[in-house]
This record gives sequence, structure tokens and C-alpha cells, in this order.
Amino acid sequence: MTVYKAPVRDINFVINELLDFNAHYQTIPAGAEATPDMVEAITNEAAKFAEEVLSPLNQIGDEQGCQWNDGEVTTPEGFKEAYKLWVEGGWQGLSHPVEYGGQGLPMSMGLIKSELVGTANWSWGMYPGLSLGAMNTLYVHGTEEQKQLYLSKLCEGTWTGTMCLTEAHCGSDLGQMRSKAEPQEDGSYRITGTKIFISAGEHDFAENIIHIVLARTPGAPEGTKGISLFIVPKFNTTEDGTITDRNGVRCGSIEHKMGIHGNATCVINFDSATGYMLGQENEGLNAMFTFMNTARIGTAIQGLAASELAYQNALPYALDRYSMRSLSGVKNPDKAGDAIIHHPDVRRMLLTARAFAEGGRAMIYDAAKYSDRMVQAETQADRDEAENELGFLTPILKAFLTETGLESASNAMQVFGGHGFIKEHGMEQIYRDARIATMYEGTTGIQAMDLIGRKVVLDGFKLYGGFCKKLYKFGFKNLISGKRRCYSAKLIGYTLSWNWHTIKMVARASRNRDAVGAASYDFLMYSGYLSMAYYWAMMAEVAASKLAEGGDDKAFYEAKLETAEFYFSRLLPRAKGHAGCMNSSTDSVMAMTLDRFTTR
Ligand SMILES: Cc1cc2nc3c(=O)[nH]c(=O)nc-3n(C[C@H](O)[C@H](O)[C@H](O)COP(=O)(O)OP(=O)(O)OC[C@H]3O[C@@H](n4cnc5c(N)ncnc54)[C@H](O)[C@@H]3O)c2cc1C
Repeated sequence: MTVYKAPVRDINFVINELLDFNAHYQTIPAGAEATPDMVEAITNEAAKFAEEVLSPLNQIGDEQGCQWNDGEVTTPEGFKEAYKLWVEGGWQGLSHPVEYGGQGLPMSMGLIKSELVGTANWSWGMYPGLSLGAMNTLYVHGTEEQKQLYLSKLCEGTWTGTMCLTEAHCGSDLGQMRSKAEPQEDGSYRITGTKIFISAGEHDFAENIIHIVLARTPGAPEGTKGISLFIVPKFNTTEDGTITDRNGVRCGSIEHKMGIHGNATCVINFDSATGYMLGQENEGLNAMFTFMNTARIGTAIQGLAASELAYQNALPYALDRYSMRSLSGVKNPDKAGDAIIHHPDVRRMLLTARAFAEGGRAMIYDAAKYSDRMVQAETQADRDEAENELGFLTPILKAFLTETGLESASNAMQVFGGHGFIKEHGMEQIYRDARIATMYEGTTGIQAMDLIGRKVVLDGFKLYGGFCKKLYKFGFKNLISGKRRCYSAKLIGYTLSWNWHTIKMVARASRNRDAVGAASYDFLMYSGYLSMAYYWAMMAEVAASKLAEGGDDKAFYEAKLETAEFYFSRLLPRAKGHAGCMNSSTDSVMAMTLDRFTTR
């Protein structure tokens, strides 16, 4: 069974010493309440909840899974009780406005909470996580009446939310979606269709479930331009939220799947269910992007969570498993062999997971500042700017951190040798749970196309250019006056190479459009390694300054510098391989004809 100890010291390093959340909070209205004492208290309480309530349920959730019986879903032992404590603690509305029953704290505080919860027990965390996405969508697109009714209940946690996009024939390509919404005289709609793979679609936690559903109105244009968004409650209610009768929504079955067994992945049938339009007709996909971007950052956290949990649980094993002698001389003379942590290859695996976890945390928490700015913006222009910046980072965070999370989980299993493959230690569960993260909320392939297509080329390189400027600014400043100038030099070099390869790829794409698709995965991975290098360079500067100042916590800062060195020496060079692949011939991918694929 895995254990979880919340990395509070590292979280505090990121929010206080690296990113100065306190200064950031002074620039947004919701930040007034988020004093350093308050942030610390909330982080500590969330850490306690994660360690003491959720972590012990992680293995139980995996073993028992969810049970479906005639449309009802029973969650694993202890899940429901943990959710009751969650609601009583007022956690669900932490980052939502006071007027809807929330605590009015910044969104970024919600992300810290999500990391702690998600690392302790990802399956459980998806129930409140999906609700958060529904809450954000309602907050941005709902009418005042909709917010008073649905958002208040969701903030309270007595109702939960879902996201109903996927249908059997389409997940990535939602333009093919077929669910229908028939307008009624009273202004409501009748929703009919079947959605599949709906996380937290049915369960025994809450009085009501609010499904946020994509469907088409009669005569709507084909493709993505004819999709609208609807609120469809499991139970109909009066305007004050009193439950009246069952709506035409039923859970047809739940999936039997590789991981996240504690979370119900449901087929949801809508049979003339009463629904209410959310936002404008035919603009549902845009409205849903609010939902998707928050959900995607949430999924990026799953990558970070996998790296963190994998590292934490592989480390004690590496310290206490003895095998052969160290190449540089005996380390444990009283044992028949040396602890495997003395072997460079085992260290490589541990440090890879550690570097991805700490680097990923810095990346996500910095992006969380944009979500604060987006939600708290006073003008539409400010909101658009923050949303665009976050939009640029989202595919990198989501795809790169989930890919690296999976690698960390695999490495941590490997540290255990054959014992990693059996259930006892829980390492294979981390891998199985993490595997979905590269698939849902837009697969790595879709994120890669989104990054290079919408966020770079169609944007006219504006966001890309702004991001590069940030990297160059930091790099050149610290190349002259920094404490780790070698990292700044590398950062500048890799950014220059990124620019060169991007230009080359776009030029090649003007001759062959498939060049973009063939390069997209490598482009995304390069972007990920480079972004993480920026944060590792910043972390190294902070750690080196702290050491120069003297004072406490020397070991923490030295370990930070050693991990930075590992990142720059052993992980960042992988980007060169991606650069090489990015601009290799498109024909190497596209030349094979379909008949030759089957000729073997
Ligand atoms: C456990 C679980 C939970 C989920 N939770 C939810 C949920 O709560 N709500 C919800 O609505 N959905 C949910 N999903 C669905 C999930 O988001 C989709 O499965 C995912 O978006 C991929 O869609 P698909 O399965 O239809 O794959 P497809 O879209 O068929 O893709 C198949 C493959 O083709 C690739 N591909 C497709 N088009 C392109 C392209 N243009 N360029 C390059 N590559 C391409 C993809 O990258 C992928 O590798 C969940 C799925 C699972 C398994």
C-alpha cells in the first residue's frame, strides 16, 4: 500500500520563495483574505485531510472499485464518509465567491488543495474535481438565477457536477456529437442522447448531480458551430433547490477499467430529460472551454501527483533494499549487499521522478496565477489576456506533465524490481491510475495539435513570442548577474533552438501540411522540457541565493540545487532528440500506404 506525506515544505518554497504568492494576492480582490497565515493554515489542513482521510482509502478504492446496480452506483468503503467530512469542512467552495456560499479565496489556493487531495487519492479527488469544473462554467456562463440555484448547491457540496461531452463515436472530435435538445414552451429543453465515459456521473455522495451536457438544438449548424451547453439535473427541483422528482437521466452502466477504480466512469442516458441552456445557443463548445481548461490543469496535476507519489514511495524501498556492491566501494558492510540507492541507475530513476514532481509543481502553481487573474479581472481585456496566457500553457502542462508523470510511475515501479509489478506495494496502482491522464481531457496528440496549431501558428506567434521573451529576459538577466549562470546559458540556447526548429517546421508545413502533425508530439515535448528548464533555472537561483545568505534549511536548498543539476544534465538534453525528430522528413511517417501497413 502506498503512503502519502504532503510535501508542505516544497509547496511553501514554490508559493513563498519562488513565486511570491503573497505579492500576487495583493493584486487581486480575492487575495485580500489570502494572507500568508491563512494560506499556511489552509495548506496544512488540506495536507492533514489528504494524509489522514484520503490516503488510507486509496488502495481500498482500487480493490473494491465502484458497484453498479440498476442505475445506482455505490462507491468504495469510506469514500462517502470522506466526502461528508469534505463538505462539513467547507472545502468545495474554497475558491468560489462568497455570494454563492464559497469562501472567496483565490483559484490558485484551490489548485494547491487539488494537488494534495489528488496525490493522496486521485479517484476520490475526481468527484469534487469534476464539480469544480461545473462550478467554473456556471460561474462564467450562468445567469444569476442559475448561479443562485446550482452554483450555491455545488459550492456547498451537497450537489456535485459532471462534464458530459463524449459519445461512443466521438471524443476528440466533438463536432460529430449527436445528442439533441428540443426547445419547450417554458424555455427549458428536452435532452436526448447517450454520453459515455462520464467521470463521477453517478455515485452515492450527494443529493443531486448536475450534468453539464453538450447537445444540438434543431437546425443547428453541422460540426462544432452547432453545439450548445445545457444544465441537466439528475433530480428536478423547485427554484429554491427543493428536490421534486426524478429527471430523465440514468446511469446505464459503469466501465471496468485499467485504473482509477474508485471513480465511477459512467454511461449516462438522457431520455427527454429537462435541461436549461447555459450561455448562448451554438456557443456551447466555447463555453465548455472554460470547463475544459480548468479540467485540463486539473489533469496536469494528476501528472505531478503521479511523479510525487511514485518518488515518495520508491525512496524508502531504495534505501532499504540491498543488492550487489556499489561500483565505488562498499557502502553497507554489515549487509550482504549495498542499498540499491547507491547504484547510479536507481538514482537516475528516483531523481527523474523527483525532478518532474518539483518542476511540475512550479509550472502548475505559476499557471495558477493566470487563473486567478482570469477570474478576478476587472476588465474584459484583462480577462482575455490572462485566459490567452493560460490557454498557451495549458496543452504543455496537461500533456507534458501527464507523460512525465507516467514515466515517473514506471520508473518507481522499476525501482522495486519484480516487487513493483505485484500489488502489495501499490506501485502498479500508481501506474494504472496515471495511465488515463494522457488520454482524457484531450489526448497528448490532441494537445500537441492544439499547441502548434491554435496556440502558435493561428495565433500568429504572439503568445509563443511572449513566452520566449519571458525566457530570454530571465536568461539574459541571470547570465550576467545570476548565481547559476550555466543554467541561464542553457535556457537561452534551448530557447534559440526552439525558435529555429519552430520556424523550420512552419516553413516545411507550407509545402506539406502533414509536417505539422508529424512534428506536433516532438514540438510539445520540447516545449515541456524547455518550460520546465525555466522553472528549474529559477528554483536554482532562489536556492543558491538562500544558501549564500546562510540560515536554516541548508539541506533543502542543496537538494534543490542537486535536483536542478540533474534536470539540466540528464533530462533537458532529451529535448535535442525531440528537436531532431521534429524536423525529420514527414515522409518517414506518411509514406507508408495503408495496404503496406497490413503487409507483414
Ligand atoms: C476513465 C475515463 C474518464 C473519462 N471522463 C470523461 C468525462 O468525465 N467526460 C467526458 O465527456 N469524457 C470523458 N472521458 C472521455 C475522454 O475525454 C476521451 O476518451 C478522450 O477525449 C479521447 O477521445 P476518444 O476516446 O473518442 O478517442 P479518439 O478521439 O477516437 O482518438 C483516438 C486516437 O486518435 C488520435 N487522434 C484523433 N484525432 C486526431 C487528430 N486530429 N490528430 C492527431 N491525433 C488524433 C487521438 O490522440 C487518440 O490517440 C473519459 C475517458 C475515460 C477513459
